[in-house]
Amino acid sequence: MYDALVIGAGPAGTNVSYQLSKRGFKVRMVDIKEKVGIPNHCSGLVDKRVVDLVGEDLVTDKPSSAEISTPFGSFNLRSDRMRVIDRVALDQKLAAMAQSEGTEMSLRTMLTGLRQGKEGIVATLKSREGFETVESKFLIGADGPTSSVRRRLGIKAPRLLTSLQYDLQRSSDKVKINLNRKNTPDFFSWEIPNGGEVEVGASGRNSEEVVKALTGSDTIKRRRGGLIPIGSTELGNGRCFLIGDAAGLSKATTGGGLFAALDSGNVLANAMEKGNGVLQDYQRSWKNSFGSEIKRDYKIRKLLDKYEKYYGLWVPLVSSSISGINRVGDVDYPSKTLLYMLYSIPMRFPFAVVEFISNLVT
Ligand SMILES: Cc1cc2nc3c(=O)[nH]c(=O)nc-3n(C[C@H](O)[C@H](O)[C@H](O)COP(=O)(O)OP(=O)(O)OC[C@H]3O[C@@H](n4cnc5c(N)ncnc54)[C@H](O)[C@@H]3O)c2cc1C
Repeated sequence: MYDALVIGAGPAGTNVSYQLSKRGFKVRMVDIKEKVGIPNHCSGLVDKRVVDLVGEDLVTDKPSSAEISTPFGSFNLRSDRMRVIDRVALDQKLAAMAQSEGTEMSLRTMLTGLRQGKEGIVATLKSREGFETVESKFLIGADGPTSSVRRRLGIKAPRLLTSLQYDLQRSSDKVKINLNRKNTPDFFSWEIPNGGEVEVGASGRNSEEVVKALTGSDTIKRRRGGLIPIGSTELGNGRCFLIGDAAGLSKATTGGGLFAALDSGNVLANAMEKGNGVLQDYQRSWKNSFGSEIKRDYKIRKLLDKYEKYYGLWVPLVSSSISGINRVGDVDYPSKTLLYMLYSIPMRFPFAVVEFISNLVT
């Protein structure tokens, strides 16, 4: 009998397997893919704190600024914390670390059945060799946005945004985000430098037209895509837990989910190590740590959607607070930027109003 059966070998699954194996748990990790990390859907843009967790060797680019465009104008944010990492190498590095600590890994293997009892889980796995019954004390769903573990537990799915990305032969040193909802009504489009290439992408409706327009006549080296969950779900039930995108833990403002995928696994591994009331401990600890930012981020996203027509007001607000935002801005904690802006409104407001009116009349 295994201590933990982990479904999915993305960043969430490989990291939690490593964390548990390191603590002496007997872990089996399975993934439907033929090779860990391939195909890759992700742009790999992260804050430096992710690199601190997974290693500098994975960094492929360090963009120095981000240009944010809206229909009312644009502004430039500077940051020395932005990094682009090799996402395939990330998954493979973490999988190798898990295996070196004792995780048993099976590829081309998927979960087809799950029965939960008081003492443990009986799961059915299917591979090319046929069906296999596996017993484990706990089961971890790290199987991404369309999680079959989540579905089998009867947990409601988050909203899923279809996203498309092309990797272009083009060089750039800045991230570009376009928030024009006329082009991308559900989210935004992006351009991210990645080691001599640029990743151009968009989420939601119109993605294909927008990505084609961003591509222009540049050579397309790869076409890829995936789903971004918006709005977190429950973290499991009984002896089954969800981490990463399976629990909808991506940020609703940026779609970034790598830090949460890693951190939710770290929090769960700590709860499993303590061993009493694991699910309750995981829920409580997550809520008291990064989970609260994920919830705040969802609220910010709803506010942005609601007050979209007032972008014309917040562009000059941001512009006039730019040095402070550069100081406090953190891609994993958008609420820090919002709080800073709200705090500085009383001082900035007269300037913002003048800018807002001049935007309307010019
Ligand atoms: C286009 C795009 C760009 C993105 N860019 C960024 C970015 O720049 N920065 C950032 O932080 N985040 C980004 N994200 C989000 C990020 O990729 C995810 O948050 C992250 O991949 C979540 O990791 P995960 O391990 O939870 O899930 P996944 O990476 O989806 O891994 C799930 C794994 O489970 C396996 N699996 C699925 N079903 C089964 C099954 N039934 N049985 C066995 N195995 C199964 C899959 O094969 C996969 O390997 C992006 C997402 C998209 C779609």
